Amino acid sequence: MYTAENYDVIVIGAGHAGIEAGLACARLGVKTAVFTVNLDWVGNMPCNPSIGGTSKGHLVREIDALGGEMGVAADANTLQSRMLNLGKGPAVHSLRAQIDRRAYSDYMKGVLEKQENLYLRQGEITDITKDGDLWEVTTRLEAKHKAKAVILATGTFLAGRVYIGDVSYESGPDGMFPACALAVSLKKLGVPTRRFKTGTPPRVNRRSVDTEALEPQYGDEKIVSFSFSKKHSPQNKLPCYIAFTGEETKRIILDNLHRSPLYSGKIDGVGPRYCPSIEDKIVRFSEKERHQIFVEPCGEKTDEMYLQGLSSSLPEDVQLKIVHSIPGLEKAEFLRTAYAIEYDCVDPLALRQTLEFKGFEGLYGAGQFNGSSGYEEAAAQGLVAGINAALKILGKEPMILDRTTSYIGTLIDDLTTKGCADPYRMMTSRSEYRLILRQDNADRRLTEYGYKAGLISEERYAAFRQKLEMIEAEKERVKAVSIKKCDTLDALLVSRGTVPLEKGLKMAELLKRPCVDYDLLTDYDPERPDYPPEIFEQVEIDIKYEGYIKRQEMQIKEMRRLEVQKIPDDINYEEITGLRLEAIEKLGKVRPETVGQASRISGVSPADISVLTVYLSRHSH
Ligand SMILES: Cc1cc2nc3c(=O)[nH]c(=O)nc-3n(C[C@H](O)[C@H](O)[C@H](O)COP(=O)(O)OP(=O)(O)OC[C@H]3O[C@@H](n4cnc5c(N)ncnc54)[C@H](O)[C@@H]3O)c2cc1C
Repeated sequence: MYTAENYDVIVIGAGHAGIEAGLACARLGVKTAVFTVNLDWVGNMPCNPSIGGTSKGHLVREIDALGGEMGVAADANTLQSRMLNLGKGPAVHSLRAQIDRRAYSDYMKGVLEKQENLYLRQGEITDITKDGDLWEVTTRLEAKHKAKAVILATGTFLAGRVYIGDVSYESGPDGMFPACALAVSLKKLGVPTRRFKTGTPPRVNRRSVDTEALEPQYGDEKIVSFSFSKKHSPQNKLPCYIAFTGEETKRIILDNLHRSPLYSGKIDGVGPRYCPSIEDKIVRFSEKERHQIFVEPCGEKTDEMYLQGLSSSLPEDVQLKIVHSIPGLEKAEFLRTAYAIEYDCVDPLALRQTLEFKGFEGLYGAGQFNGSSGYEEAAAQGLVAGINAALKILGKEPMILDRTTSYIGTLIDDLTTKGCADPYRMMTSRSEYRLILRQDNADRRLTEYGYKAGLISEERYAAFRQKLEMIEAEKERVKAVSIKKCDTLDALLVSRGTVPLEKGLKMAELLKRPCVDYDLLTDYDPERPDYPPEIFEQVEIDIKYEGYIKRQEMQIKEMRRLEVQKIPDDINYEEITGLRLEAIEKLGKVRPETVGQASRISGVSPADISVLTVYLSRHSH
């Protein structure tokens, strides 16, 4: 044993959560160490080599607006980019990029290495204890490091166990060793952990894929970057391909279901409901004749192809038959076998909205460790945990994002108020404020928070303020401007299924028509200022959805009224007359921090909330 370097914050994990947590702490000026068991896989993507997708794209843009790194890194390492759901309203438009897995990891390692105040270390943390006001962590090499705060971002490594058919062994993802000692130490400390599981599909060699037999999928012509800073310009470099399972695939799986550790009961851990394995899909959606598979490139310098949709823990020989039963993959050569992994994670009801543990001051949780699933969900939590650990050490107010501000706020509120019975994955349906929490306006919603926390530079903030001014100026202009009536424009309007222009109609009124947009009016709007396209995008959405947005803003106002009503930590719910037994139990278990949070706990009724608010107003300390 030896006494080693001390830090303000120690982050255990250099995955998607650990990276954002470490960078946030170091950028806010506190001395930070980031430990990982394998320095060669910082920011590893053990599952799909992509970032974003429905609602996940929102999270990435929100991370960027707060001053996080994931959006910038994704733009720098894009293989292909697509805006999803363009056929639907802007609330569900979501960016998704295929990412070069190796290059992304190297990029993030470089960012951590160059970051002032940040010390990146390869080393397994095997023990964590409290020593007075400080935390002490011990490494496999018996070095003891002290810190004011520790952020647990251990992903799927904690007591990791891999399953492939009858074979199972202790392991982290991608053959890295698991963190078993720390799992024992956390239990000893009294951290409430449980078992979750997730799975990944096989990877095959590109040369053995008959791409001619598959439908290629290309990126968008006009690429939108994840980062509002536009530091990098993402390019389309490689296509994906679409394949389909068939009757034969189904027969192979059903014939071998008894050999699946999932169905033989070997796996205890609870898997992600919204990321099912192929065997799960065949069983749960037995009426479906075929399932879509995406054959995705993993990088520019590798021929590894990821078979999205074929996650499995069936034995290897069965996996080979499954893949070879798919048209276009008949001769596929395996590079990596699919597997499931079981791991320890915490019950997030034990965490505050700052992601600090309620029972352990200075101890924080982030990422998969908190019961979520997905790179984006992990990065979002890492950023919030990092910001709050640093702000607390700096003696500043915490940054709490409630669910009216963002998907990040929705994610954290769901985890810390409702908990999760299976790995929590973000979806747009989880937010009651979807129309306001769009991916295109993440900077308008969150840059102020990032600036106040200290993560957004003066220069970036000035550019942001200028953008807001341009949006306001343009809104004023279109309210004052009338488009000149002419036959060609009338013909265009009629061809789009709307009525000809009324003389003197203000442009803002015209833009309210669903089929009218800035592009259509380009030749008829001579005074249009030379603004970036995102200014007109914002103005158009604000005008088109004005009514809906106003209604949601009213709901938000009401929700915020409840959210500011704090509940004291030491409240005794049993002494509150009129509270129902179920409410006393649930409130006692979750110990919400605000009345708003209390109102979202299942089993706590509006009547209970009225009793509680009356009690608080009478007993305000
Ligand atoms: C097989 C597999 C399949 C997956 N499938 C999906 C899916 O289908 N959909 C989906 O959304 N997500 C999936 N994921 C999850 C996704 O990978 C994670 O959500 C994401 O990587 C979580 O990020 P994280 O930062 O929390 O953890 P990770 O990225 O796992 O990073 C954990 C970090 O902690 C470090 N670490 C752990 N313990 C210690 C210790 N004791 N000492 C030092 N360092 C330590 C590790 O070295 C690593 O750097 C899958 C993951 C795996 C492994």
